[in-house]
Amino acid sequence: MEIVACGLHKQYAKGVVALESLDLTQRTGTVHGLLGPNGAGKSTFLRLCATLEQPTSGTLHIHTWDVRSRTERRHIRRHLGYLPQAFRLYEELTPIEFLAYVCNLKELARPIPQEVARVLEAVNLTEDARRRIGTFSGGMKQRVGIAQALLGEPRVLILDEPTSGLDPHERNQLRNLLANLAERSLVLLSTHIVEDIAQLCAQVAVLYQGQLCFHDTPESLAVQARGYIWELVTDETLITPSGVEVLGSTPTPQGTRYRLGSDFRPHAEAHPVADPTLEDGYLRLCAEAQSDVQRHP
Ligand code: ADP
Repeated sequence: MEIVACGLHKQYAKGVVALESLDLTQRTGTVHGLLGPNGAGKSTFLRLCATLEQPTSGTLHIHTWDVRSRTERRHIRRHLGYLPQAFRLYEELTPIEFLAYVCNLKELARPIPQEVARVLEAVNLTEDARRRIGTFSGGMKQRVGIAQALLGEPRVLILDEPTSGLDPHERNQLRNLLANLAERSLVLLSTHIVEDIAQLCAQVAVLYQGQLCFHDTPESLAVQARGYIWELVTDETLITPSGVEVLGSTPTPQGTRYRLGSDFRPHAEAHPVADPTLEDGYLRLCAEAQSDVQRHP
């Protein structure tokens, strides 16, 4: 399976350009992460892949199927699991009832009770399967949402911020589940939690104001920050020159330890950080994209 976007452009009715000339290819074999600040176009791209929106121009294929073709959209939907960002559940139903209902909507050919039991097990909800969803915590509701996306073992699994609302234990379980699924299915998820990408994805695409500004491994995203991240411990009040971003500050017995983002040495006593993190790389990329936008508005 693969997702191939060529010159993909999406403009909403009021003139908002959510995606601009996006070229992106993603294939089964790993979890693909989509990272970017709010409003970058992540959900728009996922909704286009899920055939819920239509491109304004450019092409988007899932496998060989064109999202613009009515008949091919039906093929896509048959092989797709999708968790939207704002997922609504019927609170008066139990997970078993809700998932059986979704099986019917999807017209799954396999026996419903077994399939429902399988996905409940996958998200660790078997014991709570007969309780009303209205009594669930936010994390449990999110897991019901993930369970419905897994019905029918879709070959393409699209998850819009799947870890939001999950506690660290649930988040870890979900990461393990997705890592297993990615061996057989194309898993594409959006997040603004950089840690999700670090733990889970072998490929990450970064969107900024509708444009793709990075697509490679998380390791090479971290490398983007080499020469940009500095550390400084001082008990003086820090006055940062323009172009210097304060990324963190921690009090220590010797003074405040600052983590700074800057293309030049931001302070006489600042020293460069040798091993920048993925988050550093992401922040660098966003800072660069932001200054590009300011230079060419
Ligand atoms: P992200 O998921 O990265 O936060 P979105 O894809 O939700 O970004 O949004 C990208 C841009 O498109 C934003 O400016 C947003 O306000 C706009 N947008 C999203 N959905 C709609 C819509 N249905 N109608 C008009 N504008 C929209």
